[in-house]
Amino acid sequence: MLVHGFIEGSRVNGPGLRAVVHLQGCNLNCPGCFNVASHPFTGLDHDPAEVAAWVVRANGVRTLDGVTFSGGEPMQQAPALFDVIESLSRRLPQLGFGMYSGYSLRELEAGRFRTTPEIAQTARREVWASIRSFLDFAVLGRYVATRPSALPLRSSANQELLLFTDRYCDHDFAPQEVEVHIEPHGLVQVTGFPVAGLPV
Ligand code: SF4
Repeated sequence: MLVHGFIEGSRVNGPGLRAVVHLQGCNLNCPGCFNVASHPFTGLDHDPAEVAAWVVRANGVRTLDGVTFSGGEPMQQAPALFDVIESLSRRLPQLGFGMYSGYSLRELEAGRFRTTPEIAQTARREVWASIRSFLDFAVLGRYVATRPSALPLRSSANQELLLFTDRYCDHDFAPQEVEVHIEPHGLVQVTGFPVAGLPV
């Protein structure tokens, strides 16, 4: 699976301390997208087991509340995403799972989303149902720059925060904030919601 970035511990991508897996590749082209570098379907192809192992390792360093999958567009690599979540739910059943997707619930339920590799619409519906069965929450819908939102985890007002289990409630989702992560080798990652602009 193509991965844009991995953050071992973030507090701005859902409740508590969470690992964040940013998948690489998105062809939805929302105008004004904050992360255009995540759009090309290029880069190293990681085995889902390797990605799951990163989370297991991160959880060994600090106790995580959960994992959030972000983009790029996670559902455009749905089969590999399922493999990662399924593996983690067995190995770390205490974790909660969340996902951002540019697709609406209606599109996902109908199997109207692109996947890499391509699979039939029936199989897309099934893989979404399987992924959804592991998710505690999802933020769904395109980013629409003309409809800005200050609601937790939602960049635009059309997006929905859906709770699929009773693990979390609306009050667990903190106001939008941004984090800057500086790795020991100098890589800088900005994550969250830079509502006041990116730090310079
Ligand atoms: S779905 Fe997300 S990553 Fe893709 S273009 Fe829209 S905002 Fe950007």
